[in-house]
Amino acid sequence: MEDILITVTAEEQFQAWQSKVMPAVEQVRPGVWSIPVPFVGNPMRYTLCYVLVGDTAGGAGGGAREVALVDPGWDSDEGWAVLTAGLSTAGLSPKDITGIVVTHFHPDHLGMAARLREASGAWVALGEHELLPTHWRSDPGRFVTEDREQFTAWGVPAEYLDEVSFQAETWAQMTNVEEPQRRLADGELIPVAGLKVRVLSTPGHTPGSICLVDEANQLILTGDHVLPKITPHVSLEAQNHVDPLGDYFTSLDIMGVGADMEVLPAHEYRFRGLMARVAQLREHTLERSREVIAVLDAGEAGSVWDVSKELTWSRGFDSLRGFTLRLALAETASHLVYLSAQGRDVAIEVSRGAPTLFVEV
Ligand SMILES: [Zn+2]
Repeated sequence: MEDILITVTAEEQFQAWQSKVMPAVEQVRPGVWSIPVPFVGNPMRYTLCYVLVGDTAGGAGGGAREVALVDPGWDSDEGWAVLTAGLSTAGLSPKDITGIVVTHFHPDHLGMAARLREASGAWVALGEHELLPTHWRSDPGRFVTEDREQFTAWGVPAEYLDEVSFQAETWAQMTNVEEPQRRLADGELIPVAGLKVRVLSTPGHTPGSICLVDEANQLILTGDHVLPKITPHVSLEAQNHVDPLGDYFTSLDIMGVGADMEVLPAHEYRFRGLMARVAQLREHTLERSREVIAVLDAGEAGSVWDVSKELTWSRGFDSLRGFTLRLALAETASHLVYLSAQGRDVAIEVSRGAPTLFVEV
């Protein structure tokens, strides 16, 4: 049973998603481009990077054109070739980019920012509360240890610890990102001449996730916060993110600002019907919470692992392995801290200052 609640606004993009091929570079509005950048080796297949060209035509003599690029995507040579080809379709080169805005720190969004900055000289900006993996560089061994300790505390049996926890190589791969030159606060306009694009702080998927509102074009760029079909993972993944699910619900509540706008998500395809999708996401997530409550009420579960085992998973809990199992546990943990914050008695150890982890939708 699936209600059709949203309207696809990019038929070709939708068809490409359905047939599992890369969609084309598209001009969404004059000066607004969508460039799919390959997410190598991941079933999501691509990240939708957006290019917003500042309109400086009004100035006498025409001042230098400024251009924002949102979410450069997963770092790879292939991705770089696709991104630069996409820019050239838009009549641009990396040197034209003034600012690189990243909706959240996951590597399929931030990954190629360093390479693009090097080629363009553009600044990189993240939301003011977003995490950065750079501090892991100093002592990756510590994070490997703490990560394992977290899963041990969650009741994960010893034989599963290797597959759910990150190894030193994983940490090393994820720290290949530089500090952003700018941080963007809620309500701020992104500092690119000729654009009036406002930052909307939407923590949940990550602590510093942001959306961007382009009122003139009636567009809202939602990152991974709202996608047309996929429910974003809201996981207990960060030591300084106390109640990610509580934040996520609050961040759904404020989406009314883009109610009538066309939605430009970072994956899948463009659509309209933001509030219908928001309602669906809320209900889907609350339903999950009710399921967790039922498990708690049964009184048998004593750990995050025990609760996870009792929940419904599309192919069954026993089919979850490795990274997917990790995500499932972190999702369960986010529900437990949420319910505890809502005043429920949750006598299960959930948070013990785990390191900051990357989790993808
Ligand atoms: Zn993503």
